[in-house]
Amino acid sequence: MNSYVLCTTLTCPCVPGQVFSSKATLSNHKKSKKHQAWELKQKEHKIDNTKRDNEIQILKTKLKYSEEQVENLINEKFELKNFILILENKNNELVKDLDKKTEEFNALAIMYKKLKNTKRNIYHKKYI
Ligand SMILES: [Zn+2]
Repeated sequence: MNSYVLCTTLTCPCVPGQVFSSKATLSNHKKSKKHQAWELKQKEHKIDNTKRDNEIQILKTKLKYSEEQVENLINEKFELKNFILILENKNNELVKDLDKKTEEFNALAIMYKKLKNTKRNIYHKKYI
């Protein structure tokens, strides 16, 4: 039959590996400058960690906002590209329409010129 003896080892994280012989020596150690300095450093680390956590949260919020802005800009770019396509199609239609009307105008101008010449010839024949 195995028997176990429960024993408490008195240690302090500021001096790893050192075991204190009694609660009194541990208590005295905790009043020492070395331990006090270690405790102060722990508090400073905790404050630094909290500051860093807050900075991380702020940066995460900024990142999320930036990502949303990028997404909005991508959507806006897509919408603008579509709008440009619509305008280009409309412009092509207008150019075709203008070409057609220019051709019609030129044909009418030629007809008008011929008609004017014919009229002049008739006038000349009449009075010659
Ligand atoms: Zn200590």
